[in-house]
Amino acid sequence: MDAKKETHQFKTEVQQLLKLIINSMYSNREIFLRELISNASDAIDKIRINSLTNPEILGDDSEFKIKITPDGIKKTLEISDNGIGMTQDEVLEHIGTIAKSGTAAFLEALEESKKLDTISPELIGKFGIGFYSAFMVSNSITLITKPAGAEKATKWESRGDGSFTIEEVEKESRGTTITLNLKKREEDEQDFTDELTIRSIIKKHSDFVAYPIVMDVEKDEQIPKSEQLTDKEGKPIGATTRKVTQEETLNSMKAIWAKDKKDVTDEEYEEFYKHISHDWNPSLARIHMKFEGTTEYNALLYIPSQAPVDLFMPEKKHGIHLYCKRVFIMDDCKELMPEYLRFVKGVVDASDLNLNVSREILQQNSLVRNIRKNLVKKLFELLGNMEKEQYEKFFNEFGQILKIGIYADFENKNKIAELARYQTTKSSGELVSLKDYVSNMKPDQKEIYYITGENIAALLNSPHLEQLKEKDYEVLLMADPVDEWVVQSLTEYDGKSLKSAEIGDLDLDLDKKDSEKKEKFTSFFDFVKSNLEDKVKEVKPSTHLKESVACLSGDTNDMSSYMEKIIKASGQKYSETKRVLELNAEHPVISTMKELFEKNREDKSLKDYSKLLFDMAVISEGGKLDNPARFSKIMGDLMATALNG
Ligand code: ADP
Repeated sequence: MDAKKETHQFKTEVQQLLKLIINSMYSNREIFLRELISNASDAIDKIRINSLTNPEILGDDSEFKIKITPDGIKKTLEISDNGIGMTQDEVLEHIGTIAKSGTAAFLEALEESKKLDTISPELIGKFGIGFYSAFMVSNSITLITKPAGAEKATKWESRGDGSFTIEEVEKESRGTTITLNLKKREEDEQDFTDELTIRSIIKKHSDFVAYPIVMDVEKDEQIPKSEQLTDKEGKPIGATTRKVTQEETLNSMKAIWAKDKKDVTDEEYEEFYKHISHDWNPSLARIHMKFEGTTEYNALLYIPSQAPVDLFMPEKKHGIHLYCKRVFIMDDCKELMPEYLRFVKGVVDASDLNLNVSREILQQNSLVRNIRKNLVKKLFELLGNMEKEQYEKFFNEFGQILKIGIYADFENKNKIAELARYQTTKSSGELVSLKDYVSNMKPDQKEIYYITGENIAALLNSPHLEQLKEKDYEVLLMADPVDEWVVQSLTEYDGKSLKSAEIGDLDLDLDKKDSEKKEKFTSFFDFVKSNLEDKVKEVKPSTHLKESVACLSGDTNDMSSYMEKIIKASGQKYSETKRVLELNAEHPVISTMKELFEKNREDKSLKDYSKLLFDMAVISEGGKLDNPARFSKIMGDLMATALNG
């Protein structure tokens, strides 16, 4: 047997993680038990679901349970389940790598913290370390596991020191047994082999686990009269009780979502949240509702306080567990929650669903559609009623995802728009709702102005906003890529249309007698354009600029420059749209150039300056110059002339 024992190295990220865990000063170490019990309960869920269509898989081992066996002398704690078990390949895949999509981000966070000797609960919470948390309390861990129907079992063993061994072993029954060799404990530390300690940890963290968590306990049992030693008068002369070992269930298995709100404490809600979300941070908010109408269902939904690192990964799981009459049907029930609320975690228990319901059926099920609609409505209410501070916390974590709903969920577009928040040119960093924006509009202001771009600071200083600032109009600063899609779908709010401050002219009535002036510039502007090698489709007097000389813009139907950037970055093919070069006709540079042009069109500097105007416009929107060397040369020459003059 030993010949087959193989030693493997943990993946680098696991080694780092283990080092962190083993040296951790993390005080709440008892949660390791919750993690292992959660895994055991998930494993039983899996085989139970499997057995619905394949009953023989259970054999004669159909009483699901999780057994805890402490040994105070050997200093071990064993957690065993009769769940689905793992094949050797599965063990290698799941225990030894961090099989989570956030690995790269996790490593970055580790790098950043650089504190390998302490582990912060936040860091744990962000990534969830599940099984590995057992190394907080163990010198070594042995895991023996056998899948249903398999001949052989797999033994995995590790001291958490960089490597683990794998070998094939015998195991009688299906499932997984994990044995922890507990670390020597200090006087004041918890004894994880102590019965009372175990009882209280399970009560606290795992009470609602749906399967019995059992432990053998010693009890005093009354000795039957017939077996008692008695004297002549029939009075007992020996012991009347004796010690017996009995298996006792330690958890109540109560589905808290099925209880009445008033019967559930905050602590219970939070423990349950941790159980289903594998998130170690407290939730931000929750809704617990009972719906009793034509159809009955309970729902307990949570909004996390932090976005998980894998929120934007396509394989990200949805957080809704579906139950039917307290029996688990599936996790990751996408059908119950739209994409843009995929961060919501929780449970829906719908008593009218069939236990064997498949995903295909769910997709077409009108009951599911109704539940989803109602849950979404309740979530909007919850979000809409949050205090400002709490809501901002939420929006900073999940706003980007939520806003997807504005273009993905036509029906709820306006409700989600109500929930959107933006910084503005006047908000000094604060987030503002569209409602607030509208109530702050100037009496003569007709439209809601916005500008999109990569970062707030650049947007704030964009030359496109100069005239709007002059009018004292507020502008929404939209610096999320999703905002580009938001503004395409949300064309108006509260009867006011949304207007880009960048594309199309601003109709600000600033200069009605403009057309005359425009004509005066026509031939000069045409000349500027002729020097720009087809880079722009038009050169025209600006409706945006006040102080700056030049900026680039687009026609009403053109893409914004940020949208172009996003599309470029995504690798998609597209044909670049030519921009419009806007020049500030009021600016002395333009009037002087125009004079020069009218005196002598052949003046060589006019050509250079035309190019310079274009380059300046590119730079002011944070763009990249095609020919930066030319730009520096012209600038250099200009400075030399200026200094000499
Ligand atoms: P998580 O539970 O968050 O996925 P873990 O590191 O705790 O992360 O577990 C990794 C994986 O190992 C689980 O997703 C599961 O596939 C497998 N696993 C862990 N414990 C058990 C168990 N008792 N029975 C079967 N599979 C298990």
